[in-house]
Amino acid sequence: MRIAFFGTKPYDTIWFQKLNEEKYHNEIKFLHPRLTEDTVSLANGFDAVCTFVNDKMDKEVLEKLNDYQIKLLLLRCAGYNNVDVKAAKKLGITILRVPAYSPEAVAEHAITLALTANRRIPRAYSKVRDNDFSLSGLIGVNLHKKIAGVVGTGKIGVAMVHILKGFGMKVLAYDIHENPELKELVTYVSFDELLEHSDLISLHCPLTKETHHMICKKTIEKMKPDVILVNTSRGGLVNTEDLIEGIKHGKFYGVGLDVFEEENGLVFEDHSEDLLEHTTVARLLSFPNVIVTSHQGFLTKEALRAIAETSLENVRAFEMKEPLKNIVE
Ligand code: NAD
Repeated sequence: MRIAFFGTKPYDTIWFQKLNEEKYHNEIKFLHPRLTEDTVSLANGFDAVCTFVNDKMDKEVLEKLNDYQIKLLLLRCAGYNNVDVKAAKKLGITILRVPAYSPEAVAEHAITLALTANRRIPRAYSKVRDNDFSLSGLIGVNLHKKIAGVVGTGKIGVAMVHILKGFGMKVLAYDIHENPELKELVTYVSFDELLEHSDLISLHCPLTKETHHMICKKTIEKMKPDVILVNTSRGGLVNTEDLIEGIKHGKFYGVGLDVFEEENGLVFEDHSEDLLEHTTVARLLSFPNVIVTSHQGFLTKEALRAIAETSLENVRAFEMKEPLKNIVE
């Protein structure tokens, strides 16, 4: 199969190239631009496109793909909030994704963000490098015996619960479907109760109409003072303006964000020579108790290999007309 691979980064090619050469033998064209209405013409002449979280697959782009007779959309990620699934279905385009590649990779990044923000690691690191061995501004809080709130107890949420239990935390959970696997480990509560009691809140649910801006002025007001908030899920879960207001008013002990609403056009690219135009992002980056990373939760060696393996297996199953276990419907 001829695959147009959009938004290629050097870390993408490592496993896709190796496994494809060894076993799958597709013709993959690694393209640098991300998929948008301006770049979709690059897909002309291919059978499938392979995309990631910041590619744009709205009705307009999908219609163009359909004009090029592309019938397979290969998402090399779990989330599909950037795809107009209804439009794809209407056009007869099959969407395959990688539902799980390494939940632990994302959960481990979530706890990294919590600890890094809490123990003021960026500041500590710069101070010591500057021969400032004083401890001012570096006070953290213990997690041991505190209450963690996990929102969304699917694959990543479960991995996060295990980590938090290892810290000796009591874990509250909120999900629209309770996970029986966690029966002994967490107490399921309402979203409001979770907000009210948690010292650390970590978001692990998908971005949907229901979860959009679930963290906003109203819900931030319900949180405990000095709460630590972590979002490794999707930027749209948090209203950034409201978050900034909360941070300004001292609500949060720490905030760790691997994703943020305004990330498109920023993440995965080097903008170090540019002036940062986005005032919201600039404000977010200005707080000493906030740590932002560039959507790297998935970025471990193990996860990259698993993403390539599952994606290439998805192509094979599609070509062989086998049942498609990773289809998005
Ligand atoms: P999953 O499908 O296994 O679990 C999601 C859970 O959220 C499910 O238990 C579901 O019932 C729950 N949920 C759905 N709607 C909800 C709602 N309205 N309120 C509360 N809970 C709700 O997904 P996963 O593999 O654990 O991934 C979770 C999210 O993590 C993905 O949707 C994706 O956005 C994000 N993610 C981020 C990265 C990264 O690099 N930062 C990598 C992979 C996934």
